[in-house]
Amino acid sequence: MSKRSPEVAAEECTALGADQQRFESFPNRTTALGSLTIARALPIKERRMVGPWCFLDRFGPMSFTDAKPMDVAPHPHIGLQTVSWLLDGEVAHDDSLGSQSVLRPGGVNVMTSGAGIAHAEQTPRDHTGRLNGVQLWTALPDAHRHGAASFSATDEVPRIEQSSGIVQVFAGAVGDAVSPAPYFSPLVGADLAVHPGHALAIPLDRSFEHAVLLLSGDCAIDGNRLEEHTLYYLGCARSEASFASREGARVLLVGGPPFPEQILMWWNFVARSAEEIADARADWEAHRRFGDVTAYRGPRLDAPSLVRPARANPLS
Ligand code: MN
Repeated sequence: MSKRSPEVAAEECTALGADQQRFESFPNRTTALGSLTIARALPIKERRMVGPWCFLDRFGPMSFTDAKPMDVAPHPHIGLQTVSWLLDGEVAHDDSLGSQSVLRPGGVNVMTSGAGIAHAEQTPRDHTGRLNGVQLWTALPDAHRHGAASFSATDEVPRIEQSSGIVQVFAGAVGDAVSPAPYFSPLVGADLAVHPGHALAIPLDRSFEHAVLLLSGDCAIDGNRLEEHTLYYLGCARSEASFASREGARVLLVGGPPFPEQILMWWNFVARSAEEIADARADWEAHRRFGDVTAYRGPRLDAPSLVRPARANPLS
């Protein structure tokens, strides 16, 4: 099994001196999701989580004419929430509860797996020919990870409009703007649009650790220029951050208190033990627990092997 748990317990944000602030850069890892090229910002070897956020994939921007770029066949999840946010284009969601939704820019889809759910995500038949967005996961805390599955679609998240830019809050709160989407840990998730020639100042919770990902344009924090396809970990103990841009920028902000539990991630599962993962994999393969995504036409995804081939057959 490929074990992807944090090697050390999460640092705590209890000592909130300025020495808890960081500015650490972590290049994204390029991977494939079907025919779609993904830049994976979380998890990476050196940085497994930021608050409860344990996964962050960046896709696009891209234009297309014929084949649909996103076509992720039904697959299972446990122990997490998927959070989908778009800058452009659309993604259709179908799940084993029967939920159907087309996500568009400005809205957020949050799927809570609880003990188990299956879903499919694809470019819908009616589309703009563009795709640009992110998908994040939150790890569910132990008290909630065995609960019922649910799906929430919010058409328009709260916005803060200032002369320096626009903040859209899809998770938690920024100032008075509070996302209506359901979450199970303290957290923040926001899309910051910085207007050209401006600096957008955002209030932050000092007890949160934060990270940012440049989505487009040019941006600097405290004079440090952000590069695309790089996650910047800001640490804790910041009561605000200022995002300065010359030509305009979009920046993703995520944060939360360091997650207090050790998690184990494998494939589409967030668990606590190898046994839980093996059980979830066996249930998916045996068509138990997760239900069917009846709205999706075509075969579902098979779970990968739990044992790496090189270990299963060391003599070959
Ligand atoms: Mn999924």
